Amino acid sequence: MRILITGSAGFVGSHLVERFLNEGHTVIGVDNYISGQVSNTDLFREHPRFTFIEADVSHGIPYTGDKLDWVMHFASPASPPHYQQFPVETLMVGAQGTQNGLELAHAHGAGFFLASTSEVYGDPHVHPQPETYWGNVNPIGVRSCYDEAKRYAEAITMAYHRSRGVNTRIIRIFNTYGPRMRPDDGRVITNFVHQALRGEPLTVYGDGSQTRSFQYIDDLVEGISRLMMVKYHKPVNLGNSDEFTMLELVGIINEVLVSVDYVMEDYFPQDDPKKRMPNTIMALNLLNWMPSVSIREGIHLMAQQFAK
Ligand code: NAD
Ligand code: UDP
Repeated sequence: MRILITGSAGFVGSHLVERFLNEGHTVIGVDNYISGQVSNTDLFREHPRFTFIEADVSHGIPYTGDKLDWVMHFASPASPPHYQQFPVETLMVGAQGTQNGLELAHAHGAGFFLASTSEVYGDPHVHPQPETYWGNVNPIGVRSCYDEAKRYAEAITMAYHRSRGVNTRIIRIFNTYGPRMRPDDGRVITNFVHQALRGEPLTVYGDGSQTRSFQYIDDLVEGISRLMMVKYHKPVNLGNSDEFTMLELVGIINEVLVSVDYVMEDYFPQDDPKKRMPNTIMALNLLNWMPSVSIREGIHLMAQQFAK
């Protein structure tokens, strides 16, 4: 297949590039490096089936090559510090960027695959979160540039499916981690792993009782690959349902990596969801998919890369 991936220089995008090249497909990566890394493009630059286009997909996707089979839209700042630094760009890539991807897919008769997020559930009142939950999002808060962009992205994806017949997929990704995350992206796993490896105290925001459920990148990539093969157009949660408080995560880092202290930071991000955990029954029934990498294993694998 010929697959175009927006956000190819990012964490998730670069793992998709690798997977598709390994499977024998031709891959076109597109990125403007707003939150990605040139080193992630360099990994594949010499590969005969990989081409890279540096472009801001909110302004258009300048692809003029042969017929595409898939447009995978993964471009968007994803870590809270990044999207809060670039709120307008984040809204644009979720809105115009998504529409540009849908138009390209439509023109090529290709499938369109949207990377949405568990953030569409906001600070949830239903726990764990099933795909049928409509969410609790503050439309004007500091996270809204991301949450509402993704909610709009889902809406326009469904609209292109319903009214233009585009063969679409939507995944709602729950917190995912692994090698090739930007060490300074500010997300909790990257911060904790880095701090631990440097022997610095782990920075816990608030009282540390908020929860998240962390998925290792390989499990996500497997879920994406399976969903491409199944004609299902509504959103599907992809995440690991092992739920931890941030204080429990501190304990796991101490156990798996190295014993370090933690500090409770006064800083507590605005509208930070108090709990998050996916209901993954849909993915199990539809894709026969379940995460297989435990948090302890995953953190160990990630730390190996960071230590290099
Ligand atoms: P990332 O920041 O590492 O990767 C995103 C990539 O998109 C970056 O390389 C960035 O430069 C690129 N990009 C952003 N705006 C662009 C634009 N206008 N034009 C071209 N390129 C642009 O983040 P990630 O963790 O790899 O996330 C990838 C996708 O998955 C995002 O859409 C994100 O919302 C979604 N997601 C990720 C997680 C997670 O835990 N990693 C969770 C939920 C959703
Ligand atoms: N967090 C933390 N210390 C950090 C970074 C984040 O305690 O150094 C908390 C943050 O407040 C949130 C959780 O960890 O409750 C997950 O944050 P992250 O930025 O990884 O992702 P989010 O799920 O909020 O998008």
